[in-house]
Amino acid sequence: MTDRYSTDFSTDIVIIGGGIAGLWLLNLLQQHGYEVLLLEKSALGNGQTIASQGIIHGGLKYALSGVLDGGANAIAKMPERWRDCLAGTGEIDLTACKVESQHYYMWSRSGFRSRIKTFLGSKSLQGRIEPVASHQYPDFFLRSVKSGKYCDLYRLPDFVVNTTSLLQSLSAPHTDRIVKIAQDSLSFNLSDQGPLESISVETDGKSVTISAQRFILAAGESNQQLLEAVNISNMPMQTRPLQMVYIKKAGLPSLHVHCIGNDFSLTPELTVTSHLAADGDQVWYLGGELAESGVGKSSIDLIAAAKKRIADFFPWVDISDAHWQCFSINRAEAKMAGNHRPDYPYMNQLHNMIVSWPTKLTLTPALGDLVLEALRSDAITPGSHENSFTAADLSGPVPAARPDWDQ
Ligand SMILES: Cc1cc2nc3c(=O)[nH]c(=O)nc-3n(C[C@H](O)[C@H](O)[C@H](O)COP(=O)(O)OP(=O)(O)OC[C@H]3O[C@@H](n4cnc5c(N)ncnc54)[C@H](O)[C@@H]3O)c2cc1C
Repeated sequence: MTDRYSTDFSTDIVIIGGGIAGLWLLNLLQQHGYEVLLLEKSALGNGQTIASQGIIHGGLKYALSGVLDGGANAIAKMPERWRDCLAGTGEIDLTACKVESQHYYMWSRSGFRSRIKTFLGSKSLQGRIEPVASHQYPDFFLRSVKSGKYCDLYRLPDFVVNTTSLLQSLSAPHTDRIVKIAQDSLSFNLSDQGPLESISVETDGKSVTISAQRFILAAGESNQQLLEAVNISNMPMQTRPLQMVYIKKAGLPSLHVHCIGNDFSLTPELTVTSHLAADGDQVWYLGGELAESGVGKSSIDLIAAAKKRIADFFPWVDISDAHWQCFSINRAEAKMAGNHRPDYPYMNQLHNMIVSWPTKLTLTPALGDLVLEALRSDAITPGSHENSFTAADLSGPVPAARPDWDQ
């Protein structure tokens, strides 16, 4: 029989959602002395974070467009901030997080050599894209030199993190602050004036009411539903659907590259990252324009399009007996005119509620800055709590989500 009882607790900050946004903020705010509680309804990162390719971008899009405005400069600083965290000298300790690849490449048709050269001549771009001489090609690309070079290789400041390991390294030090709540059990207790007095949730058969100085909505695509529940209508969300493809096969070489095609568009034709599956097979995870134009296609048509692109860019690779799979997933972001991609993380506040979308994994440190600044400007300081508690009082541990190829 379930032991049902109701308990009231208070804390400084409640975060709803344990993807990259929620977990990063949990680490950052605990470090700044706040007592934080993170509520997760399924597995940590079960949404966009586990589906992401894990690329920490330095702003290729801006380099390709030649437009180097504030957005470009904001993202250009991110790889260094992440690298500091991975080295243990940054704002968050990510020393336990595995890096899939320290380098990320751009593989571009030779026909665009002169255009890229013009970009590379621009002072503001220096250091963002470095041409790689063919005698210095990584092993995988050396085969292209042997088979007649028709693309050029460039090294970007980007690198790739292992998202499962990222979720684990952000959650492991704070298991006592992460609570598993029952699906659909979250309800908001609003005051007449608008601020949120408390939230109520079910955990392990217990009914719990929690009050806090600030409530942060970090639930990715589910923020929309939460915003409706608290009657906030001026922070609209947009979703951008994708249909991702992956290839799974033993012994596939490791490959981390944007493939730039004929139209030289701002979205690479193909974006490849490599991951080790739990059964030891290697995975090539395919995004970019393939995934954007794949929305609405049947899996047969999308896989056929993916095979064609792989054969086109890497004709020396044998993927004949690989296992192919597609799945659909949405990006969730603050609404932009024309459904354009935002360039910045989003944070906004009403009363004691903070709403957040990081826009990209890459931009999460900048989201952290915004949240800290909002707390400082409202003079929210760490408090003392008579009804302090740990997550173990409320639920068992919350695991990290697993990527599609390990399910
Ligand atoms: C296919 C794909 C590839 C991407 N690749 C990259 C990339 O290479 N580099 C990059 O920088 N960005 C990338 N992104 C973007 C990046 O993944 C997202 O911006 C980021 O992961 C969003 O994190 P989040 O924490 O806001 O949301 P999510 O990761 O979706 O997390 C939301 C969390 O909230 C939980 N939740 C939902 N509702 C509730 C509720 N009611 N109560 C409690 N918990 C709840 C969910 O279970 C989940 O754990 C990619 C996105 C996609 C979809």
